[in-house]
Parts: sequence; structure tokens; C-alpha cells
Amino acid sequence: MDKKNHSEFMQRAIDLSRKASIVDKTGGVFGAVIVKDGKIIAEGYNQVMKQNDPTWHAEMHAIREATKKLGTPHLDGCDLYTSAECCPMCLAAAYWAHIKHIYYGATAGDSLKYGSFADMNILDEIRKEPAKRQISFTEIMRPEAVAVWKEFAEMPDRAKY
Ligand SMILES: [Zn+2]
Repeated sequence: MDKKNHSEFMQRAIDLSRKASIVDKTGGVFGAVIVKDGKIIAEGYNQVMKQNDPTWHAEMHAIREATKKLGTPHLDGCDLYTSAECCPMCLAAAYWAHIKHIYYGATAGDSLKYGSFADMNILDEIRKEPAKRQISFTEIMRPEAVAVWKEFAEMPDRAKY
């Protein structure tokens, strides 16, 4: 893919970030597109404030639209263009979705500097021991939970992730 395509896709992601934050005021300065075979197949933009949904990030939105469109939970061979570096949730979603390559515009440092988006704190939290995190994290009823896993492991037609 030539440089022109990259800038066209990133420009669309940036335009969507402007729509979300300045034009429609649905949420933060975040826009994203999913590209397959040199074409944009899905778009997303931040709607955290509009939807009252803290998970409505541009990348999550674009991934959901793309999987719906392709009729599969996985986006093998697809690239994600996002106006700003992914937060840990969206990065994890990109792994679950089998995204091939992520192109980003602004860095997490830019989001923190200009918008007080504290993604970096989440990364710090993930690196800590579970018991030392701000959200308490305690294992309970493991045998009962694992009983379902055992049943699942024996299913001949179980889904593959
Ligand atoms: Zn995110």
C-alpha cells in the first residue's frame, strides 16, 4: 500500500475525531477506521458522553461495525487506523479481533497533555500485582467457576477463539 492510502485512511480517522469532540460533541478526540484490501470497511468515533458508555471508544465502535459487516468475530487481514494511540481496552480488543497492524496519530502522551486522558495510569495498574491495584481483585468460588470450564473442555463442538 502506498503512502497516499495511509494518509487518506488516517485523515478519515482524524476527521472522525474532530466530529466526535468538536462538531457533534459526542465524546473525546478519537476517531478510527478499519481497512481491508485497501478499502475502509468500517468507521467509529468516541461517543462516551452521548451514549453514557465508558467503553464507547472509536476503536471499539469501528471493530464492532467491521465484524458485523463481515459476519465474523475476527478481522484477520484488517488494519486499524486510529487518530490516537489505543487505550489498553482497545488494544486488547484489537488482539481479540486479530487486527494485523495498528496505525496511530497522536500518542497517549498527547491525549494526556491536551485532554487529561489518563490511559497511562491504566497501563501502570496492569503492571501491578492484582492485590495492589486501585480496583480490588480477589479470587472467589474458583471450583464452581472451573466446573463450567471443565464441561466446556469436553464439548466436541465448542467454539474456537
Ligand atoms: Zn480505547
